Amino acid sequence: MGEFALIAQYFKRPVQRAVLGVGDDCALLAPRPGMQLAISTDMLVQGRHFFADVDPRTLGHKALAVNLSDLAATGAQPLAFSLALALPSVDAPWLQGFSEGMFALADAHGCELVGGDTTQGPLNICITVFGEVPAGQALLRSGAQPGDDIYVSGHLGDARLALEALLGHIYLPPAALAAARQRLESPSPRVALGTALRGIASSALDLSDGLVGDLGHILQASAVGAELQADEVIARMAATAGGPGVALSLPRDLQLQCCLAGGDDYELCFTAAAHQRDAVQQASRAAQTPVHCVGRITAEPGLRVVDAQGQAMAQRWASFDHFSA
Ligand code: ADP
Ligand code: MG
Repeated sequence: MGEFALIAQYFKRPVQRAVLGVGDDCALLAPRPGMQLAISTDMLVQGRHFFADVDPRTLGHKALAVNLSDLAATGAQPLAFSLALALPSVDAPWLQGFSEGMFALADAHGCELVGGDTTQGPLNICITVFGEVPAGQALLRSGAQPGDDIYVSGHLGDARLALEALLGHIYLPPAALAAARQRLESPSPRVALGTALRGIASSALDLSDGLVGDLGHILQASAVGAELQADEVIARMAATAGGPGVALSLPRDLQLQCCLAGGDDYELCFTAAAHQRDAVQQASRAAQTPVHCVGRITAEPGLRVVDAQGQAMAQRWASFDHFSA
């Protein structure tokens, strides 16, 4: 099968909202009046972001999910995406699975594939997403204010826990591994929550590299500091890794590392003023996505992780850095 037959078979579908889709030199999009385009690109490289033997269906899902997660963090509604793909060879079952996994998530978010590039080479997947957000309403990293609550959506740490188990560093019972692995391989981009938080959140980003590092970007962009409640963060891990019993029996250091410096969570971290607490819970219910307050923005710069007694946990930082390196 040649390059163009491959594109026609696996990636060309009738246009939905776009003016022009796959097949010409450029695609054409028509954002609605008063909307701004939100654009983001994420690349997935074999050996770096996924194992060579990963199920192509979940890989197709994840390649798009990590991009939709950026739109979610901006409060943008997905419109379309492009796909640049390097493939070692034309592997029909792989392409079938990959495109099915990708389009299932695309259809769930009304996001259509409008173009891309296909070349031979080591497996590499690069997606660019386009979304729209009412002018001036995008959620940015730069709006956090002292006194704001810090929230995270869903669950943290499970993806990293799965990775540690798959690498053979720790043992997880099969049911727990399956649940954690699902979180690693099939993250759910929090698009509904992101759009529901417009006008409510003061800042937001999505968690791809671990809470501590990613929250640091908000602190830097907003010129503020933060206090994170370690136990509130750990509590967000329990639900998916085979049930609270399993997660809570893990060593505390491992829980902390997975939740604070784990990465691959694809949850939202956002801040909101105290007077928005009811509005945040309403947005959470409307989006059917749980959110939890895990800390507070401070005027004093720097990030302090504190235990249940309010004591700073400075001695643990070196291991987080080592772990995430
Ligand atoms: P060009 O010669 O302009 O670079 P290509 O020959 O690379 O165009 O691609 C032909 C058409 O197929 C273009 O419309 C391009 O956007 C689309 N396309 C190529 N690869 C993909 C892909 N992986 N997914 C979707 N569309 C693709
Ligand atoms: Mg081209």
